[in-house]
Amino acid sequence: MAEARSELPGSAALALLGPAPGAPCCPHGPALLFVKTSQGKEDGRRFYACSACRDRKDCNFFQWEDEKVSETRLAAREEYNRSHQPFFTHRQNVDRYKNFVLLPLSKRRFCQECQQLLLPAEWKKHSDHQFLCDITTAQLKSPSQLLYPLENKKTNAQYLFADRSCQFLLNLLIDLGFRRVLSVGTPRLHEMIQSKASQEEEFNVRSLLLDIDFRYSQFYTEDEFCHYNMFNHHFFGGEAACETCRKFLCEENGERVIMVTDPPFGGLVEALASSFKKLMAMWRETEKEEMPMFWIFPYFFESRILDFFPSFSMMDYQVDYDNHALYKHGKTGRRQSPVRIFTNLTPSMIVLPEEEGYRFCTVCQRYVSSGNQHCEICNSCTSKDGRRWKHCALCKKCVKPSWFHCNNCNCCTLQKHSCEKTDTGCFVCGKAGHKRSACPSLSRSRAKCIFHFILISMLLFLLYRPDKKKGQKIRKRIKMGICKRLAMKHAIFSKRKVKNKKKRT
Ligand code: SAH
Ligand code: ZN
Ligand code: ZN
Ligand code: ZN
Ligand code: ZN
Repeated sequence: MAEARSELPGSAALALLGPAPGAPCCPHGPALLFVKTSQGKEDGRRFYACSACRDRKDCNFFQWEDEKVSETRLAAREEYNRSHQPFFTHRQNVDRYKNFVLLPLSKRRFCQECQQLLLPAEWKKHSDHQFLCDITTAQLKSPSQLLYPLENKKTNAQYLFADRSCQFLLNLLIDLGFRRVLSVGTPRLHEMIQSKASQEEEFNVRSLLLDIDFRYSQFYTEDEFCHYNMFNHHFFGGEAACETCRKFLCEENGERVIMVTDPPFGGLVEALASSFKKLMAMWRETEKEEMPMFWIFPYFFESRILDFFPSFSMMDYQVDYDNHALYKHGKTGRRQSPVRIFTNLTPSMIVLPEEEGYRFCTVCQRYVSSGNQHCEICNSCTSKDGRRWKHCALCKKCVKPSWFHCNNCNCCTLQKHSCEKTDTGCFVCGKAGHKRSACPSLSRSRAKCIFHFILISMLLFLLYRPDKKKGQKIRKRIKMGICKRLAMKHAIFSKRKVKNKKKRT
């Protein structure tokens, strides 16, 4: 299945062909195999590119699938990959931390430029860097606040949970009886669990953080954090780190463990799904049972996620973030976050807070946004964004309140749209990527016939619609012009076809 990447113009896109055995490596582990597509078909040579960085500036690894790479280039690449690993190993960072916490407050410094805890002997080297002083134990326990969020949209996209959402998630996990949380790309949830565990005696939930952000290795031991790439299921710490994760999942016979993940939203759902399936397989290889999971992702990816995890359902809960202007509750005029929880747990078990405007729908057997009305025709609570949606009899489904049914496009869409836009779908077959004049499912003459049939049906509709006065006027006008205009249309239509053809080559 193809994953469209939006950077490419027109209908061209990149398709992911999945993690390939024997793929070459960049500093971020095995590269992924891609191919350029045009109008949904493979178009060109397959190539490998970095799995983690969608911005070439962050990692410019590139290799054609069929390219012969010389021994010298391979050696140079290996050297490059080695030199692009973090300066300190995880072990070294753990030792440094042990020394750091022994220091008196006045000697605890954090270099903001290097994003690194400093030991006194290193101060000199960072003397012209900005640093924070008097790092408290509380600060060490919330590294997500100490480290600056990596907001590079294309690579890290670190959007931290608002306290309220994080608290909600944790309470939900506890109420559901989970004891271990595999936190994949959720450093703030991990941190909340860790700090509660160290403060409250009766708190017995543990967490293992898997994240590509190696800065966290300064604050957590090898049993608490694994440097991991969730796009290619790569453990940077090798077999030992992988084993740590497996052990964590399989403790207590694998009971009471849940995986929570909040990946960057940039796409590559297929790569994520493939990694998550591998993590699930580490939990129980023999049984078909699925490890409980919360996948936090925007609602417009619902169908993509269900493609890979048909047992999942989307919860109405809106996940809020601290450092994302769009995905945050405002004090006044609440902004709606598009981010939801997808889970394979029974929806009725996911209790959403009434005080935040959720209610239980007894028919759907799940909690929904208070604005999400149960549609009698669809027989479900159909809103995806929390607003009340309306049912369209022609589309036979509920649609956004701001949409209306466009007879040209034969579907509901925004009032302001251009019917000619290619991505609204073909007039003849309804598929995206081409206009009716280039519809491959019909011969040209048949397409023309169908187009004229529709045109004439529309005219007949206008002629005999109930509004008599208007109808008469139109009838008159049409009688005079219909033949002429149809002749004109023919001419324009054929000319356009030629133009389109030229453009595409
Ligand atoms: N809301 C979460 C953070 C989500 S942001 C919280 O508050 O805990 C996405 C997270 O995924 C970041 O922590 C980022 O470092 C991590 N991430 C980004 N790319 C990754 C990759 N390829 N592999 C693993 N983790 C990645
Ligand atoms: Zn520094
Ligand atoms: Zn409906
Ligand atoms: Zn409609
Ligand atoms: Zn239209």
